[in-house]
Formats: sequence, structure tokens, C-alpha cells
Amino acid sequence: MELHSLGIAELRRMLDKGEITAKDVVSSVCSRIDAVEEKIKAYVTITREEAFAMAEEADRERAGGVKKALSGIPLAIKDNMCTRGVPTTCSSKILKNFVPPYESTVTAKLKERGYVLSGKTNLDEFAMGSSTENSGFHTTNNPWDTERIPGGSSGGSAAAVAADECIAALGSDTGGSIRQPAALCGVVGMKPTYGRVSRYGLVAFASSLDQIGPITKNVTDCAILLNAISGRDLRDCTSAPVEVPDFTAAIGKEIKGMKIGVPKEYFIEGLDPAVERAVREAIGKLESLGATAVDVSLPHTGYAVATYYVLATSEASSNLARYDGVKYGFRAEGKDLVDTYMKTRAAGFGPEVKRRIMLGTYALSSGYYDAYYKKAQQVRTLIKDDFEKAFREVDVIVTPTSPTAAFRRGEKTDDPLQMYLADIFTISVNLAGVPGISVPCGFTAEGLPVGLQLIGRHFDEETLLTAAFAYEQSTDWHARKPAL
Ligand code: GLN
Repeated sequence: MELHSLGIAELRRMLDKGEITAKDVVSSVCSRIDAVEEKIKAYVTITREEAFAMAEEADRERAGGVKKALSGIPLAIKDNMCTRGVPTTCSSKILKNFVPPYESTVTAKLKERGYVLSGKTNLDEFAMGSSTENSGFHTTNNPWDTERIPGGSSGGSAAAVAADECIAALGSDTGGSIRQPAALCGVVGMKPTYGRVSRYGLVAFASSLDQIGPITKNVTDCAILLNAISGRDLRDCTSAPVEVPDFTAAIGKEIKGMKIGVPKEYFIEGLDPAVERAVREAIGKLESLGATAVDVSLPHTGYAVATYYVLATSEASSNLARYDGVKYGFRAEGKDLVDTYMKTRAAGFGPEVKRRIMLGTYALSSGYYDAYYKKAQQVRTLIKDDFEKAFREVDVIVTPTSPTAAFRRGEKTDDPLQMYLADIFTISVNLAGVPGISVPCGFTAEGLPVGLQLIGRHFDEETLLTAAFAYEQSTDWHARKPAL
């Protein structure tokens, strides 16, 4: 077994026993990147030098008896999280030359725990998209079929994990961007409860929805990484002042007696029969482990995509106003200040980002604000209430993560609405602020991975991890690797 193909927990065990060094792990990951990155194109920046330096430091510390949770573990970071001294582009031309002078809270926490940065991964520009085709630089390919997309917007992170080009990764999820690519690449991805993880240093897309989370090879690693990044941060006033439990303690508990809700609104026309079959089988598996499946209803599900595209674009239009060619990033000189703004933004942003800024500006403009933005806020409350009601009866809700497996490159790029519908099962979770995890639950006839989504109560990631782990251990989906 090659080191790059292992997970965090396994490598940590070997490192602790002194069987291998952090340098061995980094060398293995780097040679894997050399071997497959040309096919996958998961990364925007590969930080080889930093990685070796960080590994050496980890080895030095370990030799000195210092024990750190992620010592010597190579992780890839989505390129919308600020890393001091390392370019952070959001896969946008407008930030192509941006090198942050500061570290995001999540990467600062990883550093404290001794991680090794393998590089920054590709995304849809400013995390707007579901296929990573909106990247301003290049598209990323799905390791299971390189003609297909890896999902998005954290497509680079999910593909890097699936292709063993890192040990695990961080993504961000505003409407599904961790869970959907994790499903399409056959790995585990969790969007924690809104407020669980600090957003300080995460380049803002839609601040009331954005949340950072782990993308990993298995559920145990997800718990380990969640431990490392969670917690209140005074630099993000939306991070919640709640206790952070040891999430790894949720691993290995029984699920006997657990009530799992199956919402009828998620088994609809347009759901690929192969996906439905895999998800129904997974529900059967959970039942055979002692859980009870119950029908539940989330009646406002049909409004979620429309609500999201009013709120997310409104917030984006405000957040992206800062890219004016003056403070940082790319600038196109104009004849005066306003002309510089216009030229910079016209040349710096790609078509999807422009579409969202226009949509959001429209929804927020006077005369339309009440009809769109305010109305969407009200519907958001109804969607949140749906979950609260359902969680009075069940402990977790189980759904497909995505209506289809990975689609072909170019298949949906001409029709933004089709692309928006790729997130139909993930968006409500962000609107409600609850946690969600996607775990591999089978394959289509073409050999493409399918994801099972588990949704939990606010700040109850533990139940999700317990259920996800029990399911994972009863199958071998997570152990399969793409032939590359
Ligand atoms: N695909 C959705 C969008 O395009 C969600 C993106 C995300 O979660 N960042 O907005």
C-alpha cells in the first residue's frame, strides 16, 4: 500500500510508531501528483517547497517528543481560503496575483496542529458553480472518468482526495459545494452547522450560507479534521459560542433505535434511477443495523433553489463590490476612477460571476427588494421550520446528495438553470443552517460514484458521524479507488 493512498488516522498511527516519517508521506504525495495531476488538474498551486519544509518541521518536532494532531499530514486547501504568503485566487483572474498577508483561521488551526500544505485547489470562480467548469483558469476532471466533471464548487479538493493527490482537504459549502463534489468523486464531505467553523479568511461569497468543512477518504478522518477546525473565533462574529465535543468519540457508536427520516420531496422526477436505487439500498442497510426509517415531509423543498438564488446572489453582489482594482488584485487602468472600476470588473470577472452580481443587484434594488429579497428571507424561515418540525420526530434525515452521478464536461454549461438544479438536494441544508454529510453509497452501471446525504439537527454533527460511520463500515464503497 502506498502512503498517498492512506487516510489521516492510518498515517498518524504509522508516524506515531516511527515506521515512517512526514517526509516519506510528502514524497509519496508529491510523486502521486507528478503521476496523475496532468490528467486531473485538481490544483491551482502546488506548494512543494512549503510542503517539504513543513514535513521537516513535523519530523523535527516529533523527534523532540512534541505530539500534534495533524503532524506531517498533507492536506489540500480550496483556493478561497487565505494562506499567508501563498497565492489565493478563488480561481478568478481578478485575484490571480493576490498573495494574502494573513492566514485564515482554519489554516492557522491546521498549522498549529502541524499539517503540511500540499497546495491550493481549483474551484468554480468565487465558488459559484457545480462543476468546477466556471474556474477562470482550467477545468478539473473526475478521477473516475476524466471526460466528466468532479462536481463543484470544491471540485479540485474532492478530485485531489479521490485521486490520492493529498490525504484530505478542506472545501467550502454555500449551497452544496462540499457535499456534491464529494458525492460525485466518491469521497466523504461534510458541511458543518453554520457557525461551527470560523469563516475568517474565507473569501466571502454569501456570508449567511458559507461554511468550511472537511473532504476526506473516510468518516473517521472527517471527524478528526472537524475537531481541528471547529470552534468560536472572535474574528468571525457568526462563529457560535458553543462547546466543541470530541467528534471522534461519535465514531463506532451503535445506531440501534436511531430514527431516520426519508423526505418524500427528495425522491422526485429527475432523480436518476441508479441514484435512487443506491440510496434506497443504503436506507435498507441502515435499517438492518437497527435504525428505523420513517417517512417525513419537508413541504417547502420546492422553493429552495429559487430562494437560494435570490439570497446567495444578493449577498454576492455586496461581497464582490470590493474587487475594484484599487485595493488589491488585478487592475485594468481606465481614464478615470469609474472607468478603472468598470474595466477592471469587466476584464477580471468571468460570465457566471457577472450574472450573479447582476441578479443580486437587481434583487436588492429599491422597488424590487420587498418582492425578491424580503420574500426570499421569509421563505428561508419556512424551510428552516420544515427541518425543525421533522427533527421533532427523527434524529437524521437521509436523501440523495445529488440527483445524478457526474455529468460530462460541457453538458450543462449552456444552461445555467440546469446547472443550478444540480444542487437541488443540498441547498435547503444551507438555508436552514443545519449540518450535512455525504458518504459514498454505491456506483452507477457506468462505474460512477453515488453519494448518500445525511442531515442533522443544529450542532449535532455527532449523530451524523455515528450514522455515517456505521453505514460506511457495513459497506466497502469507501475502499474503492479509481483506476488512474
Ligand atoms: N452550486 C451552488 C452555486 O453555484 C453552490 C455553490 C457553493 O456551495 N459554493 O451557488
